[in-house]
Amino acid sequence: MKKKLLLYSCLLAVAAIIITAVLINITVYRDFSDSMRESVRLDAVNISQAYGSYGEDYLETVEGDSSTYRVTLISEQGEVLFDTAADAESLANHADRPEVIAALADGAGESTRYSETLSRETYYYALAQADGTILRVAMTIDSVYASLLAMLPLMLLIVVAVFILSLLLASWQSRRIIRPINELDLDHPADNDIYPELAPLLGRLQKQNEQISAQMARLRQAQNEFAEITNHMREGFLIIDDKEEVLSYNKSALSLLDIAEIGETPQHILALNRSEELRGTLERVLAGESAECLLNIAQRKVRLLANPVVDQGQVKGAVLLLRDTTEQEEREKLRREFTANVSHELKTPLTSISGYAEIIANGLARPEDVPRFAGSIYDEVQRLISLINDIIKLSRLDEEEGLPQRQQVDLAGLAETVCERLEPEAARRRIMLERQIAPCSVSGIEQVLEEMVYNLVDNAIKYNRPEGQVRVALERQGAEAVLSVSDSGIGIPESEQERIFERFYRVDKSHSDNIPGTGLGLSIVKHGAMIHHAKISVASQVDKGTTVEVRFPL
Ligand code: ADP
Repeated sequence: MKKKLLLYSCLLAVAAIIITAVLINITVYRDFSDSMRESVRLDAVNISQAYGSYGEDYLETVEGDSSTYRVTLISEQGEVLFDTAADAESLANHADRPEVIAALADGAGESTRYSETLSRETYYYALAQADGTILRVAMTIDSVYASLLAMLPLMLLIVVAVFILSLLLASWQSRRIIRPINELDLDHPADNDIYPELAPLLGRLQKQNEQISAQMARLRQAQNEFAEITNHMREGFLIIDDKEEVLSYNKSALSLLDIAEIGETPQHILALNRSEELRGTLERVLAGESAECLLNIAQRKVRLLANPVVDQGQVKGAVLLLRDTTEQEEREKLRREFTANVSHELKTPLTSISGYAEIIANGLARPEDVPRFAGSIYDEVQRLISLINDIIKLSRLDEEEGLPQRQQVDLAGLAETVCERLEPEAARRRIMLERQIAPCSVSGIEQVLEEMVYNLVDNAIKYNRPEGQVRVALERQGAEAVLSVSDSGIGIPESEQERIFERFYRVDKSHSDNIPGTGLGLSIVKHGAMIHHAKISVASQVDKGTTVEVRFPL
């Protein structure tokens, strides 16, 4: 803009100079031409007076620049009698010259025309003399041009000086105009007060600034809301572009991908996880189809759901959702194992029952063996019933449905009752059942608590040796009720102690083969403890004994 302003100012100055110069020239030309005519007329009068006094001899003394100034004496008949510029005799008759005709008629005449003699545009002034002749003085117009030419260097000097001056002025002026515009405070247009002409523009800018600020505030709010929502999601959330670069993510995504943080610069998604599964899923989602996969990240199972973002038929990126499915997968695995185990556990007694029944039905059994076979069938059915009972109990604990309401349960009384119920069994095995039960009650489900105590004491008796001991103790320790069941039995190898709470798990089959059990007792204890927020610990030494401790919060 500054350059343009400068250019226009210069052009204006040049135009003004040219017009001024032309006008001056015209005026000066006019002045010169008028004064030239005036001086020619004056000269003519002077020469005429001198001619009147001294006659033709005077004319001989008149010096004229023969190329511009000329004096001619013409007879009444038009014959040239004398001429300063040419030989009079060689000149043609001048009777037809307008100035001569006018002088003959009126005493004086003038004319401007091309002179054959001087070969130039010439001004003629003719005066009639007392002797009847005509005295004519002539001057070429060239002389005016010559005077103008003489003025030219000065005029050029003025033109250059004016041009330089206008250039400097224009430059200064354009800077003066531009500077306030450059210094405009565009953040606060309304606070500027430079040119009234800029007021509408600044007003509009102010309005636009306000609109932009309002839009930015709305955008920020929407962004904050979005971040707030996504950051409170348990699911991981990632948006990637078509170059697989991460555009947006939430905190859960980072923790699920096991990453502390993503830097400021855009990251490629594969820099966060390089697994083959993710590569395959990205390939499919960026080809425009929804895809999912299971990622193994830091011993956790993370399910990834990917949906393409399509705009006008083109895949612009993808939205990825990550969900921790470790527990779900674990439960699924347990359920599968459970179903397989249940089928196996059911099949074994049923096969025996079917075998015995078949022998009896076919009449292959001797009559004296029939009661023994029937006894075996009875035992197997009992095993089946207790297995099915345990499965029912476990599944009720699993679902936590159909369980009675929690209430304050007298744990001491309950432990006493269980011990009394199992006393005959202990006595049968010649095992001493010792009790150290302090009064204590906890909040819980009586039926489940009874199952737990029963299974623990039952195990302590079952996996004991003849004439061994079982000690059931209950006491308050701070904010806990501690139930411990110790025995002097076969013990549990350290490597197995973790696994005894698994469903259907039984330590060393050969060891416990002749000890009836379903392998579900401790699973019920574990689940019961979970429901009551209690902690279980096992301390055991092979052939020395086992202590199982359950700590209930009060
Ligand atoms: P089971 O019906 O076989 O008793 P549990 O779940 O109650 O099933 O116990 C799982 C396994 O843990 C048992 O088979 C046994 O091998 C072992 N176990 C449990 N309690 C004891 C204990 N007091 N002493 C030794 N081994 C035990």
